[in-house]
Amino acid sequence: MAKRKFIINRYTKTRQGRNKILQITCSKCNTEICKYQKDGDGRLLRLYLDRILSHDTLTQVLTLDKKDIAPLICPNCHTVLAVPYIYKKENRLAYRIINSSIHKKEV
Ligand SMILES: [Zn+2]
Repeated sequence: MAKRKFIINRYTKTRQGRNKILQITCSKCNTEICKYQKDGDGRLLRLYLDRILSHDTLTQVLTLDKKDIAPLICPNCHTVLAVPYIYKKENRLAYRIINSSIHKKEV
């Protein structure tokens, strides 16, 4: 597998601690949804769109407005995993993860 470059932008500096890559999977059927770069420690409550590293449809969606972004849906079992919203504290597009709909694993 190709070595992934970490995304470094203005948000990176505001988070102390290490970055890690998480594999996000559907908790129902175990299908991989995306790879995600998490900055710092703590619980994963939301997925910032600019931190999602691989997702076929998401890469096209990143330039859209919030109202145009579809919920994150498992391509296999069609469970809704997360819904888009603006994280107000940073005025930043993110997916709010629906309780226990995903599993994460550090890779
Ligand atoms: Zn699924």
